[in-house]
Amino acid sequence: MGLMTAWMLRRQGWQVTVYDQAEAFAGSSWAGGGIISPVPPWSYPLPVRQLVAASLRQYPELVAELHGSSGIDPELIRAGLLYLGPFDDAGEDWRSRNAAQLQVGRLNDWLPGAADLPAWQFTNVAQVRNPRLGQALLQAAIRQGVVVHQHSPVRRIHLQAGQVTGLELRSGELQPCRHTVLAAGAWSDIILRNSGLAGLGIKPLRGQMLLWQAPPGCLTHMVTGHGKYLIPRRDGHILGGSTVEDVGFDNATTAAALDEIQHACRQMFPLLKELTLVRQWSGLRPAIAGDIPVIGPMPDTQGLWLNTGHYRNGLGMAPASCELLVSLMTGTKCPLRHEPYAMPEAQPQARPAA
Ligand SMILES: Cc1cc2nc3c(=O)[nH]c(=O)nc-3n(C[C@H](O)[C@H](O)[C@H](O)COP(=O)(O)OP(=O)(O)OC[C@H]3O[C@@H](n4cnc5c(N)ncnc54)[C@H](O)[C@@H]3O)c2cc1C
Repeated sequence: MGLMTAWMLRRQGWQVTVYDQAEAFAGSSWAGGGIISPVPPWSYPLPVRQLVAASLRQYPELVAELHGSSGIDPELIRAGLLYLGPFDDAGEDWRSRNAAQLQVGRLNDWLPGAADLPAWQFTNVAQVRNPRLGQALLQAAIRQGVVVHQHSPVRRIHLQAGQVTGLELRSGELQPCRHTVLAAGAWSDIILRNSGLAGLGIKPLRGQMLLWQAPPGCLTHMVTGHGKYLIPRRDGHILGGSTVEDVGFDNATTAAALDEIQHACRQMFPLLKELTLVRQWSGLRPAIAGDIPVIGPMPDTQGLWLNTGHYRNGLGMAPASCELLVSLMTGTKCPLRHEPYAMPEAQPQARPAA
């Protein structure tokens, strides 16, 4: 969120500096799978689905522009997603209202070598190779004049009479500024509280992922069932995910998660047993009650803007989230309404902890 917002603001002529406590794009955005869809869509609120739908429309042009500017291809692929359940009442209701986007069949009809299971195919679902999206975005932003300070943690935001005056880095250095965009993902509440402000109820929920090496074309679709999923990359690599763990800011990987993900993924796609597992990693999702991100101004402050709390769909929501925030900051038009994403002004603590 931070890098993409910076890139878009710079294109509007703003002077922008990004501070990241680690490498830019090494947080949850690097760790994620890159599916551009809530999974399953009916389990997420309308404001989330609207941001994803708007982002899906923007992604082809955005990816082409980033590729052209950086030389790095973020590999946007619209391969479709095969869904293996649960097929509950909410899903059946959604299917009856979205028949054009969905086909009903058997998994091994679409995916030779897979288990013989009932499946729905979401034909419109795309994915992006998020580590490459991050690299492309970083290069494009720097090329455009965004200043990026990596390994520069921010301690707090300085405010005087309700107006942002600067950022205090953990090194003690003070950087004056008139506007600050808080896009610190799972860490956002720490910075708000250090700054004497109310938190948003954001907390980290760890997700672990696995990576297998496979020949290109081995897996042709994304596959998901009962909370686990497989994602193919263009070079053949297959990602398997994920866990949802409430373990604070512990970014470790565990043998238990490896077993859990591997077992579930092999049931969906038995060919995995023959592939080499090459990597396991984890990331911290910025979870928020109600799953709707907070995008817009911080109430009762001047110059503090929020773009955070994207939980499980930050890659899917990024382009539209950043466009919405930039339109609010610059006073330009945006087709999306901002109200669903506003922090409630009268009750800043109205969103209970996730
Ligand atoms: C395993 C897993 C799978 C996922 N799969 C998908 C998927 O398929 N599709 C999808 O849409 N989403 C997915 N997500 C969710 C998605 O990754 C997140 O919603 C999104 O990345 C959040 O972006 P962000 O910029 O808010 O947070 P982050 O990418 O975490 O960025 C926050 C940044 O803030 C920096 N920071 C923190 N504190 C400070 C500080 N004090 N000073 C300076 N910098 C600081 C961090 O270093 C970090 O770089 C997945 C997440 C995980 C973990």
